[in-house]
Amino acid sequence: MDFKFTAEQDKFRAEVRSFLESEIAGGLFKPMCDGWIQGFSPEFTKKLAQKGWIGLSWPKEFGGQGRSNIDRFILTEEILRYGAPAALHWFADRQIGRAIMHFGTDDQKKDMLPRILKGEAYVGLGMSEPEAGSDLASLQTRATDEGDHYLINGQKMWTSCARYMNFMYLVARTDPNAPKHRGISEFIIPIPLPGINIVPTIDITGAEAWGEVFFDNVKIPRTALIGEKNRGFYQIVNQLDFERSGMERLMGNYPLFDAIVKFSKETDRDGVPLCKDPIIRDKLAKLQVEFEVGRLLTYRVAYVIDGGKAPNKEAAMAKVYCTAFEQHLADIATRILGVYGQLQGSSRLAPISGMASHSFLGSMGYSLQAGTSEILQNVIATRGLGLPEA
Ligand SMILES: Cc1cc2nc3c(=O)[nH]c(=O)nc-3n(C[C@H](O)[C@H](O)[C@H](O)COP(=O)(O)OP(=O)(O)OC[C@H]3O[C@@H](n4cnc5c(N)ncnc54)[C@H](O)[C@@H]3O)c2cc1C
Repeated sequence: MDFKFTAEQDKFRAEVRSFLESEIAGGLFKPMCDGWIQGFSPEFTKKLAQKGWIGLSWPKEFGGQGRSNIDRFILTEEILRYGAPAALHWFADRQIGRAIMHFGTDDQKKDMLPRILKGEAYVGLGMSEPEAGSDLASLQTRATDEGDHYLINGQKMWTSCARYMNFMYLVARTDPNAPKHRGISEFIIPIPLPGINIVPTIDITGAEAWGEVFFDNVKIPRTALIGEKNRGFYQIVNQLDFERSGMERLMGNYPLFDAIVKFSKETDRDGVPLCKDPIIRDKLAKLQVEFEVGRLLTYRVAYVIDGGKAPNKEAAMAKVYCTAFEQHLADIATRILGVYGQLQGSSRLAPISGMASHSFLGSMGYSLQAGTSEILQNVIATRGLGLPEA
């Protein structure tokens, strides 16, 4: 592994930083925690698209820039560092566009990929259900083949981007009689459609970034099917590494890290700056070490993808480690801030805009979403260490 970035990559990072700083200065956005998943800004998404920064690592034949995944991780690292509102395009750019490139029909590629690249397709992720999370193959939402169309009935939950999506990536059962892994298919459908009801989920932080989606005899065209019917479960595996392993698993709360270091330099307690307190110094220094380890684990994933391999165990290791770092960061920040740190951003007394309490609550879900830490530790045990299935 080469620990150095190339001169072009350093230049690219500087270009991204300068763009983001000028957008903040111009008032387009304020840095926020969880911007990649809770920050919905059509203007920001459009601006990134105009710069060619959506689909950066997609092959040129599909309209992407054909850049490396290391380059894409540099871009996303900076977007996260500045807490930019990138949720509208994140999922399509990260994984659904790739699913369509790999398995989609020519018509789907011609229709969907340009929409994603232009920052116009806001795709929500419809996999989990009330009784299907870790064991996704247990899903019950049905897509019944009616000849010229499919009829969808069932329910999804934790669908990201649910309130804003104009397309939904949907996984549904197309053969109820087959063994559970072999009767599932992937679809991409426009939203809204008659028979779809979306109920926002108000999460522990008070955000409405997800939703439950109910399907009541929803008619979708056959052309919505991605890839091979009943092979969906095997196709999904291809995108999960991308879902799990990006910089967002390490840096979703980066604005908090920045802010708490600044706070400890600028705030006195009993006439002494917090940053001179040996316990606080020790905690911040340990966080910095953890951050650097997580960063290396994450870049390693990009390196493996660029080498043409599937980063199963690398993605699992990165996500388990990085989400634990994020939870640790929120915990330490809350302790440094003391009781006021528990106030939410809506309170004028909340230090650092309530970022600590938001992150403390929000980061609880980090080790659940996109594969729980326990499930990923099973992946590390089997694919990393060669241990038998439990
Ligand atoms: C904030 C948030 C955002 C999400 N976003 C999305 C989204 O955009 N789209 C989407 O489709 N889904 C999303 N999800 C759903 C997420 O993928 C599931 O919550 C996750 O897969 C776990 O499933 P579950 O909640 O049903 O828990 P369960 O699978 O019921 O697990 C419960 C507990 O049992 C443990 N467990 C389960 N099986 C095993 C096993 N074999 N070995 C060891 N331990 C096990 C788990 O680790 C967990 O601790 C999101 C969830 C959250 C919290």
